[in-house]
Amino acid sequence: MLKVTVWNENRHEKKNQVVAEIYPNGIHGAISAFLEKEGLDVKTATLDEPEHGLTDDVLENTDVLVWWGHMAHHEVSEEIVNKVVEKVLGGMGLIVLHSGHFSKVFKKLMGTSCDLKWREADDRERLWVVEPSHPIVAGINQYIELEKEEMYGEHFDVPAPDELIFLSWFEGGEVFRSGCTYKRGNGKIFYFRPGHETYPTYHNEEIQKVITNAVKWAAPVDYARPIYGNAKPLEEISKK
Ligand code: ZN
Repeated sequence: MLKVTVWNENRHEKKNQVVAEIYPNGIHGAISAFLEKEGLDVKTATLDEPEHGLTDDVLENTDVLVWWGHMAHHEVSEEIVNKVVEKVLGGMGLIVLHSGHFSKVFKKLMGTSCDLKWREADDRERLWVVEPSHPIVAGINQYIELEKEEMYGEHFDVPAPDELIFLSWFEGGEVFRSGCTYKRGNGKIFYFRPGHETYPTYHNEEIQKVITNAVKWAAPVDYARPIYGNAKPLEEISKK
């Protein structure tokens, strides 16, 4: 069974009553609940746990890590960031949500500033599917519409994605590459934009479907580990 760890900073939920009412069990609680319904083996981890809940044992038992963070990116220790990055390079899947664009983990894997424009003004967002045959959008129609969301606008300072899955339009006029896939080492990464904490975005069934599809897509495959370094010839090399 696919082993998923949902990591959440879990600070807005404690500080802001609006967020606590939308997500009484935390954003990690909401996400893990719909993933569990799909029959996945889901655990959660949060910033204030020892080692941010990401001990060696937890990481060893994670096929796909889901990441939501915002106000406390700077509190995530370099040691844990390095371990997560190493795991991704070794094949662990990573789903980075919304303000996770500025997490240390994502920035390190991208190698760019990951900066963007933003506005909290209840913009309508329409996420257009631009790669309709991709498994991440299985069961999704032409677009997903969210009545109110935070706006993220271009330019989004990330490397060109391997695959662009969603392109968002916002009521105020901006557009944004809101669903991007990357490969880093043997790991698959999906960045998915929506999910500002003061909106009930993770209760939206289509958003849940995309995240569920993405977790399944990012699962590591069982493969023969490459062997590096000095190599003996497979055939005898003739004397010349
Ligand atoms: Zn936000």
